[in-house]
Amino acid sequence: MSIKDIITVPDETLKKISKPVEKVGENEKKLINDLFETMYNSNGIGLAAVQVGILRRILVIDVSNKDEKKEPLSFINPIIKKVSDDTSIYEEGCLSIPDTFIEIERPKICEVEYIDIDGKVKNLKCDGLLSTCLQHEINHLDGKLIIDHLSKLKKDLIIKKISKLKKNPDRIIV
Ligand code: ZN
Repeated sequence: MSIKDIITVPDETLKKISKPVEKVGENEKKLINDLFETMYNSNGIGLAAVQVGILRRILVIDVSNKDEKKEPLSFINPIIKKVSDDTSIYEEGCLSIPDTFIEIERPKICEVEYIDIDGKVKNLKCDGLLSTCLQHEINHLDGKLIIDHLSKLKKDLIIKKISKLKKNPDRIIV
């Protein structure tokens, strides 16, 4: 397993649409393990393959509490089949958009069809944090980010701020 670099805005790859996985083999299993290791290392609760620069429809999630047992979930080619009319609002962050949190309203419940790590088709109905996290990650597979929920002006400001952060070298006093 290895920890991969997470790409951040304004990297254009984040806007691209990921391609479906045709067959789940050793490479896909290795990628899933790397995604988990990268996600845990960054203290994230979800990570899509595109966030490490790989445009394939694979994502991993673990919404368990830090002191609880790990509950790793991986999804290949996930498709949202149904959503509730009820909505919930979370303040969402994203490993690809440092230091930014945005309140986003999404359907409270979603039903997803996906392929698991053994290549089997599965269905999952989820609620609460898992539902929101899954919708956030599936958005990544379609090139959509949380800042796309904002006006263009606000979005540009955030990207400008992050680009500036990246250019500034570390300040040291010696
Ligand atoms: Zn994200």
